Amino acid sequence: MGTIWWIRRDLRLHDNKTLHQALEDPPILPVFILDPILISSTPERKLHFLFQNLRQLQADLRARGSDLIIRQGKPVEMLQSLMEESGANQIIAEEDYTPYARLRSVLVGGCLPLKLVQGQLGLHPLAALKSNGEPYRVYTPFKKNWLAVKSKVALHPPPIKIPTVMGAVSDEIPFGKDNPLFPAGENAARDRLEVFLSESVEDYHQTRDRMDQEGTSKLSPYIHFGVLGLRTGYHYALESLQSGSGGDGIKTWLEELIWREFYIHILFHYPEVRTQNFRTRYDTLHWRNHQDEFEAWKAGQTGYPIVDAGMRQLHETGWMHNRARMITASFLVKHLLIDWRWGERWFRECLLDGDLAANNGGWQWVAGTGTDAAPYFRIFNPLLQSRKFDPEGSYIRRWVPELKELDRSIIHAPWEKGVHVEGYPEPIVDHKLARERALIAYQTTL
Ligand code: FAD
Repeated sequence: MGTIWWIRRDLRLHDNKTLHQALEDPPILPVFILDPILISSTPERKLHFLFQNLRQLQADLRARGSDLIIRQGKPVEMLQSLMEESGANQIIAEEDYTPYARLRSVLVGGCLPLKLVQGQLGLHPLAALKSNGEPYRVYTPFKKNWLAVKSKVALHPPPIKIPTVMGAVSDEIPFGKDNPLFPAGENAARDRLEVFLSESVEDYHQTRDRMDQEGTSKLSPYIHFGVLGLRTGYHYALESLQSGSGGDGIKTWLEELIWREFYIHILFHYPEVRTQNFRTRYDTLHWRNHQDEFEAWKAGQTGYPIVDAGMRQLHETGWMHNRARMITASFLVKHLLIDWRWGERWFRECLLDGDLAANNGGWQWVAGTGTDAAPYFRIFNPLLQSRKFDPEGSYIRRWVPELKELDRSIIHAPWEKGVHVEGYPEPIVDHKLARERALIAYQTTL
């Protein structure tokens, strides 16, 4: 008797519907499986973050009289032997929607009693369809439907005690390094959420694009691993809107959370977007794909200060401001005409929040090949973006120290004022020329 709680992308005790349901059939055995397929494809920095979060979860479980059992190996084999060792008669897990997670669930569910719980999203991808039964392909109607259905998201409180099957043998959690920018554990994530909601969200609609300000929540790595539930964000945002205390800031933030869910639904219904253009008419687009330019972009050595600042922030910290993600991605795809898939892969190798659905959605949006894609002729001007969203140049100074002595009137485009800084490259491409080249490349696919 009892239940194996198979923890996957829900490394938390608050707002955990799956844990709540597992506790209906106690005792339970909380288990995390280090699946070699996932571990070998996860970048090192992200692994450290995962391991430290597992350590925190284990401590939180122990404080409730429970424990976290770690096993390294294939999920089917590990779960099979844990069922035998513990005598549990069922396995329960939060439903996850990436193609690999779905395959894994099918493989396990095919030979073991696995029950999946929808605890990740506001709406299950099969429960958010248009009246003709087809999935939404455009964000705005998706959001309208979502808001019409979900006026409230209830949360499950964390259990005080967790009756547990003791004695199962656990592997060690591998060594992980702390990340000073993103301390591990759901308490850290919840503290960050609380500070954001009480201090920053009010102005979010105005400050979220400013790369030189701390205007966004920086919760993405926690949400990616389920250290903080997406539904927790929904809960507080909807509560605040319903009580009339939230203004445009919270409304805009809620819409960003819904973007995340939208891209998860898109990946669920159209898994081919992983490798293909959502808009197939761009399949014939002729990419230049110059390797040396790709390397310069990765290294933050394009000679465009705002692009280089973003790429260096990514490289050094594993996180990048959303506006900088848009600018750097657009620069790669439109200015250098390098296939969005190259950039998408690099982002996933570097980002702590690297997420198949959100990253793919973001890249295809920028490339103009995706769902709500920006029209192909809307090509970001990196200099205008830089002046508008980093007016003093402080974001650039922070990440491109070679330029730190330059005045705000020069820093966005030193070459325009005839300034050449020792050790900093000249622009690798001329903006006007690149823009025309991109327009022709995109037009010739139509
Ligand atoms: P906030 O502004 O505080 O937003 C709150 C949460 O909403 C975020 O944590 C995130 O979970 C979600 N969110 C916000 N904006 C988006 C969006 N546009 N799409 C989907 N979810 C969103 N986000 C990722 O989580 N992982 C990625 O791999 C990723 N890759 C991206 C690649 C590109 C090219 C672009 C343009 C965007 C990408 N995003 C990605 C979306 C967005 O940039 C990040 O979610 C955001 O910058 C995270 O910072 P934050 O937590 O402070 O966000």
